[in-house]
Parts: sequence; structure tokens; C-alpha cells
Amino acid sequence: SSALVWFRRDLRDFDHAALYHALKTHRRVFCAFVFDSEILDALPSRADRRVEFIHASVVELDAALRARGGGLIVRHGPARDVIPALAAALQVNAVFANRDYEPQAIARDADVAERLRVLGIGFSDFKDQVVFEKSEVLTKSSTPFSVFTPYKRAWLAALTPFHLKAYPVDKYAAALAAPAPDERVPSLAEIGFEPTNLGELGIACGMAGGRVLVDDFMKRIDRYKRGRDFPARKGVSYLSVHLRFGTVSIRELAAAAHARGGEGAETWLSELIWRDFYFQILWHHPRVVGGSFRPEFDRVAWDAEPGLFAAWCEGRTGYPIVDAAMRQINHSGYMHNRLRMIVASFLTKDLGIDWREGEKYFADQLNDFDLAANNGGWQWAASTGCDAQPWFRIFNPVTQSEKFDPEGAFIRRYLPELAKVPDKYIHAPWTLPPIDQKLAGCVIGVDYPAPVVDHAQARERTLARFGVLKGEA
Ligand code: FAD
Repeated sequence: SSALVWFRRDLRDFDHAALYHALKTHRRVFCAFVFDSEILDALPSRADRRVEFIHASVVELDAALRARGGGLIVRHGPARDVIPALAAALQVNAVFANRDYEPQAIARDADVAERLRVLGIGFSDFKDQVVFEKSEVLTKSSTPFSVFTPYKRAWLAALTPFHLKAYPVDKYAAALAAPAPDERVPSLAEIGFEPTNLGELGIACGMAGGRVLVDDFMKRIDRYKRGRDFPARKGVSYLSVHLRFGTVSIRELAAAAHARGGEGAETWLSELIWRDFYFQILWHHPRVVGGSFRPEFDRVAWDAEPGLFAAWCEGRTGYPIVDAAMRQINHSGYMHNRLRMIVASFLTKDLGIDWREGEKYFADQLNDFDLAANNGGWQWAASTGCDAQPWFRIFNPVTQSEKFDPEGAFIRRYLPELAKVPDKYIHAPWTLPPIDQKLAGCVIGVDYPAPVVDHAQARERTLARFGVLKGEA
């Protein structure tokens, strides 16, 4: 019997649930990846770092599979048509894939499964991208968790070595079937995309890139708790893009953190649990796509301020920590977690703009964009989500900046116009006396924008805006 493994956000040939199960139960196993035109056509630009990352990772995966006697059959087109057609042409008995929890992907997979069924071909999907999925971790009354801390407690209590055990793909690799001799991976141009600055940024793709980051982070993990909140320091793992596209294994990472123990590894494991948490929120409550987790928050009336939104997107708000963060995402597709919280709070609570606008902007820009985590993060910051920041607790962008970028090292990295502004004024440069602005070569309103809003006034407006919920939330 033969099977086809359909790779999606799991671009690796080790510890891979669908590949393992297919190899174990079939004599011949083909592997395929589809550059899905339904997804690619909707992207805002033809120069997209994610597509370049995926492309490079697919080239690497093909080479890795070829070295074991297999290889990747790569197609470009609507996956819902391509996969059934390919499965029929290869005359396989079944298609295997790892599960996706996003509503659009669930609908696509149901469609593919139905089309395969009509052809007499089976479709099986597997848990792979999370440690616990769907309803595996529930409250005592068998309902999904919507608060993180008890979820985490239950997650840790449910964990056994089995959940973190790697799928031994190697053992069964002999069943890998070679694709036709003329199969090759199309170039980036052939799928309609242009190169980006990914290489220049030093973002290493594929399993090899993931491995380098894992090895580097494991040397620093003990210091994670102390360093993770400071964007100018190398305190975090930078693994999110690899977790997004499955060039690393969540089981391997969670197992390493769990085995290591200590405050650094435990805090990092907590972040991986947040990842599972938001996946199960999305699974149980797909209405969070476009709607507030707490529906009463959809009564909040946001301001539509195109000028202010553009200033936020382009890093011209006059608040250095916000502007430096936005320039980081625009330049690299990455933004540090502390900064994501700060800019999301700024957009919603200082500019009064709907969180969905920011969510969409992040979705377009982030290399690690993941619907579950991004939606969760935005609803947290906007106070509309499960276990969110209470609406009356509003980040002050200046004090956040003083606390987490005390010398302005991060700010100066992205805002060279503020290079000579003294540390004391770097977080609120409009408070620097005009004569000193001249001396520092940074005249506010000329070399760097004046603040687009006054934080204290914005705060009052936000408290009034959320006031419609008084007594309810
Ligand atoms: P580390 O600190 O090293 O964390 C390790 C891993 O844990 C991350 O790679 C990620 O997979 C996971 N993780 C960490 N924090 C969270 C979290 N709060 N929620 C879910 N998973 C988490 N993360 C994404 O992967 N994709 C997104 O689209 C995304 N959008 C966000 C939007 C907002 C407004 C906010 C506040 C957070 C968002 N996050 C998102 C979560 C977090 O900011 C990133 O995962 C993290 O900054 C990635 O950097 P890292 O890999 O160095 O993280």
C-alpha cells in the first residue's frame, strides 16, 4: 500500500507525526508540498519574507528527503485541487497530514478529505504542532479553559514523557518513495515572488537554521526570566518563525525545557504553554477571528483615524519606544514580545483604534504570524480577550520605555535621529528644552515628530470609551 504525506506548517523530516504514521503503515510513502495559491494570492506583497522562508525550507526539506531515498513533490496551485489530483495520479491509498487549527485550514482540510473520499482515498490528520490540542486539557467540569494560569497547571499535570517523545521517523525511512526523476522545486520567481531582505537580516531558514537557534538559546535559557523583557538584549529565543513553520519540533523544545528545570527554563516552557493555550482558544472559539472573545466588548466604539493609524504603522507617533518597535517590524518582520504589548496597547488605548486594524497589520508583517497567538496577543492588549489585561490598566508608553529600555539602546538602534538625545530624555524627547534639541541635532517637529497624542488625555478618553462596560467587565 502507499500513502502521500502532505507537508504544510511542518517543514522537517524528523519527529514528524504524519510522516511517522505514514511510513510505519505503508510500503511506499510519497511526500508533497503545495505553494497554495489560495493563500499566496491573498498576500499583500510579492516580496514576502514568509514565502522566502518557506521556499528555502522546502528546498532544504527536499534535499533531506532525497538523501534518504525520497524527495518532495512540489506544486503551485489551489491545494484543495492539487492534493486530490496528485493522490489520484500517484494511486495512493491515503493522504496523511498534520492538523491545523485555523478555521480556514479546517474548512480546506474537510474539503480535501471529502474530495479524496469520492476518489476512494483516505485522509488522516495528526496532532503535531502542539503538545496538547483541542479538548485534551479541560477544566474539572470538562469545559475549555479561558484563564491561563489554571490551564497551565492542568497542562503540566497532564504531561507525561509520552507527550514529549519524538516520533522515530528514521526507523521507518526505508519506505520513502522517490518522486519522478524530473521533479524539482520551482524557484521563488516561478511561484510569483521576489527575494526579500531575509538573507541580509541573517534569518536562517529551515531545519539547519532552527538548529543553530536552538543550540544558541539552550546556552542562554537559564537567564531567560531575567532577560526576556529587554528588547535591546539577546534574552529571547527568536524561535517563533521556526515554530510557525515547523522547522523545529515543539516536542523537542518542550522536552528540553522541562528536563532542564530552573526559573529560566520554567518561564520559557510557560511561553510554549501560552502557545498551546491560544491554539485551543481558537479551536474552541473560532468566533475570536473578527470578534471579541468577550462579546460585550464589541460594544466599544473605536475611533477611525487613518492619519494616526498611518503614523503608528510607519513609526512616526513621536513616542520613541513605539516608533522604534514599528520600525523593527517593518525592517525585519520580527518584533520583541514586550514591544508587541506596548505598541498594541498604544494603538488601542492611546490612539483609540480598533485592535482588528493592528491585528491585520501584524498579520501582514510578522514572519512568525500565527492566527491563534496574534489574535490572542491583540485581544489581550485591547482587553477584549480571555484572561486579558483589564481595560482600566493602561500601559504608559514612557514608563514602559524607561523600564524596559533604560538607556534607550533599542530606541537608538532604530531611530538614529535620536542618537544624541541624552538618556534622560530619550523616552520623551519632546521634554528636552529647545536649545538642547538643537545641540542634540534633533529638533522635535523637524527631525523627529512631536507626539501625535497626549498620553494623559488619551487615557481619559479610553477610560470613557470602555465605560460602557462598567459593572460588566
Ligand atoms: P520566546 O520568548 O523565546 O518564546 C518562545 C516561544 O513561545 C515563541 O517562539 C512562541 O512560539 C511562544 N510564545 C511566546 N509568547 C507567546 C504568547 N504570548 N502567545 C503565544 N505563544 C507565545 N507569537 C507568534 O508566534 N505569532 C504571532 O503572530 C504573535 N503575535 C503577537 C501579537 C501581540 C500583540 C502580542 C502581544 C504577542 C504576539 N505573539 C505572537 C507572542 C510573542 O510576542 C512571540 O511569540 C514572541 O515575541 C516570539 O519571539 P521568540 O520566539 O523570541 O519568543
